[in-house]
This record gives sequence, structure tokens and C-alpha cells, in this order.
Amino acid sequence: MAKKENNNVKQLKEKLFMERKNAVQIMSDTELKKCDKFCEGYKKFLDLAKTEREAAAYIEKEAIAKGFVPFDRKASYKAGDKVYYVNREKSVILAVIGKDSIENGVNLLAAHIDSPRLDLKQNPLYERDGVGYFKTHYYGGIKKYQWPTVPLSLHGVIVKADGTKVTVTLGEDENDPVFCVSDLLPHLANTQYKRPATELIKGEELNIIIGSRPFKDDEGSELVKLNLMMILNEKYGITEADFLSAELEAVPAFKAKDVGLDRGLVGAYGQDDRVCAYTELMAILGAKTPRRTAVAILTDKEETGSDGNTGLCSAYLKYFISDLAATFGVEGRTVLSNSKCLSADVNAAFDPTFPDVFEKKNCAYLNGGVCVTKYTGSRGKSGTSDASAEFVGEIRALLDSKKVIWQTGELGKVDIGGGGTVAAYIANLDVDTIDIGVPVLSMHAPFEITAKTDVYAAYKAFEAFINA
Ligand code: MN
Ligand code: MN
Repeated sequence: MAKKENNNVKQLKEKLFMERKNAVQIMSDTELKKCDKFCEGYKKFLDLAKTEREAAAYIEKEAIAKGFVPFDRKASYKAGDKVYYVNREKSVILAVIGKDSIENGVNLLAAHIDSPRLDLKQNPLYERDGVGYFKTHYYGGIKKYQWPTVPLSLHGVIVKADGTKVTVTLGEDENDPVFCVSDLLPHLANTQYKRPATELIKGEELNIIIGSRPFKDDEGSELVKLNLMMILNEKYGITEADFLSAELEAVPAFKAKDVGLDRGLVGAYGQDDRVCAYTELMAILGAKTPRRTAVAILTDKEETGSDGNTGLCSAYLKYFISDLAATFGVEGRTVLSNSKCLSADVNAAFDPTFPDVFEKKNCAYLNGGVCVTKYTGSRGKSGTSDASAEFVGEIRALLDSKKVIWQTGELGKVDIGGGGTVAAYIANLDVDTIDIGVPVLSMHAPFEITAKTDVYAAYKAFEAFINA
């Protein structure tokens, strides 16, 4: 017969055990209202900034409106000054000069603004059996079978032979057409079903339908392609060769939505990692004159491994810090060695439908708050920067003192899979770095899900860090 727990045991447990809490139950009604309102702005951002270029443009525009000016290596700066730097229209760094000497380091926030998607190949346009297509090469880690039969929009730039650049956003306006990858009907899928899931849809089958009507009143081959090229020429002034110098990205055409009867979740494309980008942006835009100089970097190329001159393996962050330090007569390396970084990227939220891949004591939950992750990586923490206990302790104390709702979690069970973030590349610059971010359901899918309270908690965490 089970005995009832006596009061002493209950009190001891309360004192000694750690307990997970649900953010909704901790937050006051006023806080919840603020949180929901904050997420309205977040959803607008998701709709307006579906690619790294669009996010960079949005960030620059918002920064200018808040008094940020382009960083000038020859200028001199004082506490409260706000500067920004745009790297090739795909990455942005924002900084607010603090009261302390920059020699003592900066508080750095890092998030990425690229997301998994379908990129057009350099020679994409073709016609087969009366249908016009674009060939694609997917960008980042996608489950390829998730992308057919999803309405897609096209975003990007085309650089023409004369060097002029055309910006493309097609499929977002209510009256725009959309594009789509087809899939087999179940009636004829017997052979397809026998393929392994990784090849259910193959890379070369991610072909986007862009039209079907042939050029009229004539005979010959490729008349659908000709008709499509004529439409493109009329709209953008381009010829087929101009695709060679284009970056066109196909992303889900749908808008961000509330998910659930209680509207507690946000469903949208590209929340990895625009959820951290937006919260980070809102935190630095709201900064007054912080004690330590605050720097926010919103980078590109995370999803393909951070290589390239707009990714965080490039030297552009190091150069920016060096140039900023130089305006104060300080060496960049001194600043970096004394800096602290929150590497803000999403983590996997526990999925009750697929519990087997998670270790329930060490994973993030929806409505559990912003997730702090000491180490990422896979197969024995490979590829992680692993924050020190001291730095985890510092961040833990900061979040608790500011009443930020947070949890800890790693990406799945040991040896089930894993993943990395930009944290390692920043830590490699001798910066104290820790991963932190919003838990996401269906990460890298066309429609990803986050909890509003976690989005808001991320914002509160970044705000606390900037003002620490
Ligand atoms: Mn990410
Ligand atoms: Mn990702």
C-alpha cells in the first residue's frame, strides 16, 4: 500500500530537487499579453524576410530608423553611439557603444538569417513533355520528401550581362502566381514507396513547375520554355544566360500563422534561425547605453557550414571587431579575448509524437522558455565549443537575476544524431561562447513551429545580456 509523502519529504524535495516549469503558468496575464503582442511583430518579420538578403535589408532599415549609422573606420565613437555594417547584402553587424572601455570586451549576440530552401541551379530553365521547370539544388539539410506539393515563392537577384541587378520577389503577393514541385499519386507509388526515405524524393526530382502554356501559333520544340522566357524577359528584362549570374531561392509561399485553438504557437517557414535573429534584433535596437559594448551579428551560410565570405568561418566578424577596436586605439585581439557571446540558434523541441529520439531529462520543451545548451555536436561532442562551467554559471546567474524563463537541453539522445551551430567558430576567436535559442518542432521543414512564450523568453534573455 502506498503511503502518502510526509511534509518533511515534500519540503526537502522542493529545496533540493530541480523542477521544470511551464512558462505559461509562471507568466502573469500582463506578461502573456506582451508576449503575444511581441510575436505579432515577429510574424510580420517572418513574412517580410524569407531569405538572408531580405532579412539583411529589413535589419538595415530598422536599424537606420533607430538611429544606427554606417560604421566608419576613420570615425571616433563614444558611449551610446550606434553603428552597423552590412556584408555583401547578406549579413549584418550592429553595435551600440558601451560605457566601459572596449578593451574589456563586448557582449556579442550571434544568429543566422539563412534557412534551408531550394536554390535554382545556374542553368535552371527547361521544358519536358509540355511542362516548364526550374532545376534546383537544395540548400541546407532538408528532408527532401517534405518539399513537393508545397506552394513556393521565388526570391533573389539576377545580375544581367550589363552588370545591372534585378530583385525578384514572386509568389508572396495575394495576386502573384506560386510555384510547386510535384509528387506521385499514391495509386502509382508502389515502386516509390520501396525507396528509402532519404530518396523518397531524390535531389534531381526537386524540379519546380513554372508553366505549361506553349508559345502560340507556331510549331517547333521548346515552345513552353520560349513562352516562359518571353514572360521573364518582359517582366525582368532578362535572357536565359542571365540565370548564370543569379541567386534565386524557392521558399514556401505561405505566411506565418498562429497554431492551435489557444494561439500559443507560431507556425512559419524559416524560424530556424530567424526566431533568434528577430529577438536579437529587437534586443539590440532597444539598447540605450549599455555598460559593455553590445554587438549583434546576423550572419549567412550557417545552414551550409558557415563557409564563404558571408558566413561565420570568414574573417568579417574579426575584422569588424578589429576596426571598431582601432577607433579606440585598442587591439582587436584584446577585445575578442575579453568578449562574451550568446550564440543564438534554435534547438529541437521535444516532440511527443516522436519521443524515442529525445532524452527527457536533457531536452528542450515547448513553453519551457529559452533553451541554454552547454555543448552541441555529435558522436562524443565532436564539433562543439563546449562552454565552461564558469561561463554557464555566469549566464545562469544573469538569466535568473532578470527572471528570464529558461531551460537546458541538448539535441536528442546521445549518438542518435546531432548538429552544430556557429558557436564553435566564435569560440575559436577566444570568445567565451554558449549556445542559447528557441526550441522548434519540425525543424528544417517548410512549416516550423515555436511557442510564443519561448520566443519572448529569448528576447528577454538577449535584452538581459545586452544590458548586463
Ligand atoms: Mn540554425
Ligand atoms: Mn538549421
